[in-house]
Amino acid sequence: MSDLLTITLPDGSVRDVKAGTTPYEIAAAIGPGLAKAAIAARVDGELRDLDRPLDKSANLALVTARDEGDALELARHDFAHVLAEAVQGLFPGTQITFGPSTDDGFYYDFAPPIIDGKHRPFTEEDLPAIEGEMRRIIAANKVLRREEWSREQLISRWQQQGESFKAEWAAELPGDEPLTVYWSGPPHADGSWLDMCRGPHLPSTGRLDPAAFKLTRVSGAYWRGDQKNAMLSRIYGTGWLNKKQLDAHLTRLEEAAKRDHRRIGADMDLFHLQSEAQGSVFWHPNGFRLWRVLESYMRRRLDAAGYEEVKTPQLMDARQWEQSGHWGKYRENMFVVPDEIPNAEEEGPVLSGEGELMALKPMNCPAHILIFKQGIKSYRDLPIRMAEFGCCHRNEPHGALHGIMRVRQFTQDDAHIFVREDQLIPEIKDFCDLLDAVYRDLGFDSYAIKLALRPEARFGSDAMWDKAEQTLRDAVAASGRATADYGWEELPGEGAFYAPKLEFHLTDAIGRTWQVGTIQADTVLPERLDASYIGEDGERHRPVMLHRAILGTFERFIGILIEHHAGRFPIWLAPVQAVVATIVSDADDYAREVTAKLAAAGLRVESDLRNEKINYKVREHSLAKVPLLLVVGKREAEEGTVALRRLGSEERQVVMKAEEALAMMTNEAVPPDLR
Ligand SMILES: [Zn+2]
Ligand SMILES: [Zn+2]
Repeated sequence: MSDLLTITLPDGSVRDVKAGTTPYEIAAAIGPGLAKAAIAARVDGELRDLDRPLDKSANLALVTARDEGDALELARHDFAHVLAEAVQGLFPGTQITFGPSTDDGFYYDFAPPIIDGKHRPFTEEDLPAIEGEMRRIIAANKVLRREEWSREQLISRWQQQGESFKAEWAAELPGDEPLTVYWSGPPHADGSWLDMCRGPHLPSTGRLDPAAFKLTRVSGAYWRGDQKNAMLSRIYGTGWLNKKQLDAHLTRLEEAAKRDHRRIGADMDLFHLQSEAQGSVFWHPNGFRLWRVLESYMRRRLDAAGYEEVKTPQLMDARQWEQSGHWGKYRENMFVVPDEIPNAEEEGPVLSGEGELMALKPMNCPAHILIFKQGIKSYRDLPIRMAEFGCCHRNEPHGALHGIMRVRQFTQDDAHIFVREDQLIPEIKDFCDLLDAVYRDLGFDSYAIKLALRPEARFGSDAMWDKAEQTLRDAVAASGRATADYGWEELPGEGAFYAPKLEFHLTDAIGRTWQVGTIQADTVLPERLDASYIGEDGERHRPVMLHRAILGTFERFIGILIEHHAGRFPIWLAPVQAVVATIVSDADDYAREVTAKLAAAGLRVESDLRNEKINYKVREHSLAKVPLLLVVGKREAEEGTVALRRLGSEERQVVMKAEEALAMMTNEAVPPDLR
């Protein structure tokens, strides 16, 4: 190791420093402001502790709270350590195991002290005291210091302390390289606390904001995730850089709970799920009305954009899936069905075909190529835009399922566009325009476009990837959307193994993002399934296949729509657009007459003639999020009027002629693409 190191800073300036200098010392030499703001360092790209000595020449960037991603990661990891230290302080005899950071905070798994031969799991009642102890540790501003230990040192330390889980883990770590521990407090001093950890950490616990975290819940968890092992007690927390961020997050959680599609789905009687059909949705009349409106809208958009709709088989045999490559790569996600009649009593199952296995389709792509391959295609036939509202099945573990957002049977708004190379950019640009119109019509003003670039493991040459990535970039630029307004960003390593892709991420009403749309240009599948067209030169050529979706799946998109609008759909989308409700039974005939007229005009309308108080009816239809309520009594019947109430409106009601209401409502119910 040479004594003098050359340290290059992000602005290109160079400093020569002695070996062993820390990034903190370099920050202090630049200025006291930077030294105070710095929380960690990136050394040749690697995130490191601020006081870890430099041992070779490197590029150095100082990390501050402005580097929010890094700052949050560090803070959450530190909160996890402080949590563990606090729990061991309050509950002697608790063993520590692991505690990583999460998307919004951190957790830590503990083996609680053994009382009467059993671990007493922590409960939510313990949380306030633990939070208090965490704040005390933060206020004590304990230094967080890294040390390198050997595996043997670690094992003996953990055994001495009765930390059997940690000792077990340490014994499995590599013996030939130094392992790291972090001290909270001066190393080896009384009252200092220790955990083994790869780091990095903030310089001291005092760099955490004591008002920026909250312990949220407790659950059980098995040691090393295996149910044959001991049951541990997991404490979760959410952690941020400051109180403002924490409060915003807690508000978002509350909002999200109010908007939960499962809850609103029940209030509006849209759908249900039950264990007899895990991950497959039972759509009720109201829910399927919403589905049909969305499907009709998408169909009109696709018709206008020159797509041809097709329908392909649910079951195809294993040979087909072998040829497409799904059998090898994707089989564990497929539902496989033997081609036989299982229940013949005496002789057992009877073959009904060749004895091949079949599978429910997990995607529509191979079937669309089979349609493309019927008959000879010429370069003049391209592009061919083949759309299918394709029902697919994928075998997801029960634990991964979530309402209608993550299901096993779903319908994609799928399409494949077969193009010549020279048609790629205009086709992708047109797709971007179509998708933009759809999102805006459905009430989303903001979405981000991201380009997922080549992953480590991939097919094809670098030259092929260069070209494919540049094509997607050029197409988005041609659509005028490769800008900050559209959150334009490139994501290294995120592409599929056979092609880069564009991803479209919606931002919903409470700021959450959802990836829904995608498009990718694929040359692999046309090759595997031998699709070709005759070029101008009379030779056979491979088409490029664009896989694209705008909604993704109907199930998940409807879930997102419900949460985005909190069930208060614009009138054109609402499953029930209006209810005609009577105040007295004298108005029943009139209510029926008004309902029939509205229905004849194409509105989705119901009447409520029940012998209930009008306030009760109003409450019930508000809960069901019906946008318009037409209240009729004796006077309205005599005068040919209705008293109209809008969902969520401050105004109590507006009385108008029934014909006037009808004209206004039919006008408001026109879908945006037909205006
Ligand atoms: Zn750590
Ligand atoms: Zn596809």
